[in-house]
Amino acid sequence: MTQPSPFAPIGREMDTSRQTCTHSPGDQAATDCDMKATWHIVWDTRLENGLACDRHMAVARARFVFVDSHRVGPACAMPGAVWDFDNKRCIYPDDEPALAVARALNGDR
Ligand SMILES: [Zn+2]
Ligand SMILES: [Zn+2]
Repeated sequence: MTQPSPFAPIGREMDTSRQTCTHSPGDQAATDCDMKATWHIVWDTRLENGLACDRHMAVARARFVFVDSHRVGPACAMPGAVWDFDNKRCIYPDDEPALAVARALNGDR
C-alpha cells in the first residue's frame, strides 16, 4: 500500500496572466480548470505557487499540504510580484511601504 503524496504535483508552467485556476488533472491544457481563480497558494519553500477557484481550493485544503494561501488580488501571479507572507497578499517590489519593510528585514538602514 502506498500512501498518496501529501504534496501537490507541480505541473508545467502555466499562463497565469488571466488569473484563472491552475488545477489541471493530468497536467495538460485539455483538462485545465480555467475558472476565475479566487485563491493564491504557495506550495513549497521554493515558492512554487498556483491559483485556485473555490472548488479546487477546497480540494487543495482536503488533500495537500501547502505553505501559505491568500485571496487573489490584482498582483497575484503577475510578473514581478512577490509573496507578502505578513500581509497575506502579493505585492510589487516597488510598492513603497512594502519596500520599507523589506529594507528593515534586510538590515539596510
Ligand atoms: Zn479550479
Ligand atoms: Zn497572491
